[in-house]
Amino acid sequence: MSDEIVSTPPTPVAEGMPAPTPVVAATPPPNPFNLLGLDPRLVKALGYSDPSPIQREAIPPLLAGKDLVGLAGTGTGKTAAFALPMIHKLVANNAKRQGVSGIILAPTRELAVQVAKAVANYGKPVGIEVLAVYGGTGYSDQIRSIRRGVDIIVATPGRCLDLIRKGKMPLDTINTVVLDEADEMLDMGFAEDIEAILSETPATRQTMLFSATMPPRIEDIAAKHLRSPMRIKVARDKSPGAEAPKVRQTAYVVRRDYKLTALGRILDLERPTSAIIFCRTRTEADELTETLGRRGFKPMALHGGLSQEQRDRVMKAFRTGTADLLIATDIAARGLDIEQLSHVVNFDVPPQAEAYVHRIGRVGRAGRAGVAITLATPNEQYQLKHIERETNQRIELAKVPTVEQLRQSRVDHTAEILREALADTNFTSDLRGMIGKLAEDFSVQDIALAAARMMIRPSRAEDDVEIPDAQRDSRNDRGRPGPGGGSFGGPGGGNRERARAGGRPTSKGMAKVFFGIGRDAGITPRDLVGAIANEVGIPGKDLGQIDVTDRFSLVEVPVDVAEYVVEVMEGSRIRGRKVHVRPDRAPRG
Ligand code: AMP
Repeated sequence: MSDEIVSTPPTPVAEGMPAPTPVVAATPPPNPFNLLGLDPRLVKALGYSDPSPIQREAIPPLLAGKDLVGLAGTGTGKTAAFALPMIHKLVANNAKRQGVSGIILAPTRELAVQVAKAVANYGKPVGIEVLAVYGGTGYSDQIRSIRRGVDIIVATPGRCLDLIRKGKMPLDTINTVVLDEADEMLDMGFAEDIEAILSETPATRQTMLFSATMPPRIEDIAAKHLRSPMRIKVARDKSPGAEAPKVRQTAYVVRRDYKLTALGRILDLERPTSAIIFCRTRTEADELTETLGRRGFKPMALHGGLSQEQRDRVMKAFRTGTADLLIATDIAARGLDIEQLSHVVNFDVPPQAEAYVHRIGRVGRAGRAGVAITLATPNEQYQLKHIERETNQRIELAKVPTVEQLRQSRVDHTAEILREALADTNFTSDLRGMIGKLAEDFSVQDIALAAARMMIRPSRAEDDVEIPDAQRDSRNDRGRPGPGGGSFGGPGGGNRERARAGGRPTSKGMAKVFFGIGRDAGITPRDLVGAIANEVGIPGKDLGQIDVTDRFSLVEVPVDVAEYVVEVMEGSRIRGRKVHVRPDRAPRG
């Protein structure tokens, strides 16, 4: 959807947007956009019949000059929500344009280009100049364009700061700064650059921050650099089938050390014609590329470490079929315009449901069937459940292909190739002569068998070993006491007597987990939330009360995963200290 380069002119209706109202009267009804206070020239050219929720809520206060924190992901119409007020400000009251008035920061080159196109489009009726600047290419063209005069610059944070430091980014005329996809920018390590840019631009500016999630670091930036911002949250459309793609969603639970081998086998059976495999790091991308290449696939890696030229080369190879697997880190794949995908593979469970939806949205387009495959470690199995709940879609748990299935698939594949070859029996006389000669000494059946055996890819040593199934069957876990004894007696179970922190009753549907570490070790609730999110995959918002005392801490977790939390967290390290974790049992001390 919105991860593609926006076409010109803007598409009138996007998924999840209000459908156009059918025209019944001879005179069309007034466009509701007019009521928001925007310059009529901008509204007329828009081509949208109704503002999206974020546009309805954000545009009036933005026109009034308020700062804004918008909790909204892609596909919500947020670009128009911030661009239209920016453009309006530029042209209102025939304002004299003098230099760059707005900076929009975006996480990647692709997104910067995409946003710049959209903004230019929205501003077309009043003729504004928009420029995208990003790293990985020379400075001179960008500097020349800035000097020629532009109204709005869309930039990646690193390059923006470089240009500021070089004195090439005019700052005194800036009256608006937008942080688009702030959480992504933070994930890419741009926090300091963003703060530096905000400190360099005039304090009188209007600031808008958009983010799909609100980690504490973003709250910090908002608190420090925005002036009593309006807060707007756009709920995801959860109506049934709203985003339901025609995608078969499957997950495999395997131990980390088996993941690579497992993926090879799964791909052997799935035989994707073109797939993206998402992974976390550049090293992982390179490792996957090498292993899958050895397996006979044609993979190519796409990650942040590539130059623009290398990137273009990879994309070309993928588009033309020279490569069949694109191994990409999440961020490197953003904004890529790829249509014909048969498979999307998550080599790890994406940390957020949103990322998952976004990734798998790349298959099953235009009515084509697609397959989404996710590899999860036992620890990540909870996160899968979380994604199922959030998306209201089922992710089928499947078993990694066995040695026997693998062998069978190789045989089937060879048979398929032979069948295709037999569609044309116009064999040359050389070939016929050769077989005729052989048939004097061997049966035709044996000759065919020998030829087929040569065609079948030989199995490798690693393919002769079964991969153990690591699925956590929750039924087996129930009732098993966690390490250190004790068990969860259901919500509020055994919680009558409490020492200090334990005094509060357990919230409904939650169970308390004891962590033998507290303030004395410098522990804050945030450390516990972070550790549980990392190790177990439970997002902070699913946790309940957290009490930290000097020597221990109590964390409320959903009762049905409490034992799992204990199992995963026991013996883990928080702030470098090994922690004892067990179900909370009263009384203590
Ligand atoms: P965005 O979330 O800004 O990336 O926008 C997602 C898509 O929705 C883009 O293709 C926009 O052109 C489109 N769009 C934005 N606002 C509206 C609207 N009010 N009605 C219909 N489509 C819209």
